[in-house]
Amino acid sequence: MAETGRRRISILGSTGSIGVNTLDVVNQLGGREAFDVVAVTGNANVALLAEQARTSGAKLAATADEKCYAALKEALAGTDIEVAAGREALIEAASRDADVVMAAIVGTAGLAPTLAAAKRGADIALANKECLVSAGELFVKAVAEGGGRLIPVDSEHSAIFQCLEDNQHHAVERIVLTASGGPFRTWSREQMAGVTADVARAHPNWSMGLKISIGSASMFNKALEMIEAKHLFNVAPEQIEVIVHPQSVIHSMVGYRDGSVLAQLGCPDMRTAIGYALSYPERPQLNVERLDFAKLARLDFEAPDEVRFPALRLARTALERGGVQGAVMNAAEEISFHAFCEGRIGFLQMADIAEQVMDDMVGYGAAASMDDAFAADAEARRRAGELIAQKEMAA
Ligand code: NAD
Ligand code: MG
Repeated sequence: MAETGRRRISILGSTGSIGVNTLDVVNQLGGREAFDVVAVTGNANVALLAEQARTSGAKLAATADEKCYAALKEALAGTDIEVAAGREALIEAASRDADVVMAAIVGTAGLAPTLAAAKRGADIALANKECLVSAGELFVKAVAEGGGRLIPVDSEHSAIFQCLEDNQHHAVERIVLTASGGPFRTWSREQMAGVTADVARAHPNWSMGLKISIGSASMFNKALEMIEAKHLFNVAPEQIEVIVHPQSVIHSMVGYRDGSVLAQLGCPDMRTAIGYALSYPERPQLNVERLDFAKLARLDFEAPDEVRFPALRLARTALERGGVQGAVMNAAEEISFHAFCEGRIGFLQMADIAEQVMDDMVGYGAAASMDDAFAADAEARRRAGELIAQKEMAA
């Protein structure tokens, strides 16, 4: 904690959906009275990043994109806010003394900065699930060695974290991740085959960034979350269940050996999970919508369909195979997500590509170091890129 009594916070990916909600929560929790904002980081959205730095009183604003340096510098002219740009600058920003770091960059681009923050010993409020999917064991170890806490922000994992009782890990039978089912919950594969990114990004309950919205439609987001859960909660693959729950009111559950199931409920608003992660173990006062049970009237559940949503099957395969298969699935998914958004491949081909790359790289052993994890990630990206080019040529 800073000498002032204020908590020092850095927000990686402050211009995104989670980042903007985090700054809202920071304000709700007292703004500058309660927090010193050490650093905010973004990518191409310079105007928003500059505005956030000014209004939050951040010491440093860093953009991942070196081409944006001049524009950011100009937008912050006349202030004493430090400006930086580039991948290394983001790592340096993440390494600055902060008590808590919100990790809200999207994709594997968040891994190196978040790792730097973890090694320095900051508490990590983790939204960037890709860190755990691409380098789970190593990332968890880095946090432990750094001495900070790892507190999930993903709504499902925040729910599970809240439902896990102290010293009862041995009594946990299963964790149950809820999934909204996304916009295509009732669609056939034939219907999904022709959709564009604009159709796929329209989530029924949550308002989120593009990648996670498309990932909710394909259920790749849930696939990543299954692997995220394994690393966060140290459970076996067979203890991880997924249930489709279209209202997104139960955010996830923990089942114990006495038959009890504990659930965490709330309106679909990420600020609850963000506030909890920033205040843990306190429960902060938050101005978010309250659940109205009479209005809600019912909660529905359906078994997930791994035929229409093969991403779930792939996650199970990755969990069973272990090694770098999570990193490989994640990297191939990220590349095929971009190709889908560019209209280069169809919606269903994202899973085909991930599966092919996972099968082709099945011989790769576990990552002994971060370099191994990054190498597997890079190789999976290369192979996914090749498969995408082949599919384009065949189309
Ligand atoms: P987003 O796309 O809205 O924002 C992403 C942030 O990362 C932005 O600040 C952007 O500038 C930055 N960024 C993008 N590319 C970058 C790069 N190459 N290098 C550095 N920074 C880069 O994403 P989001 O929806 O806020 O999601 C962020 C993370 O949180 C993801 O891992 C997502 O899975 C997770 N998450 C999001 C939600 C949600 O409700 N949005 C819920 C749970 C988990
Ligand atoms: Mg989630």
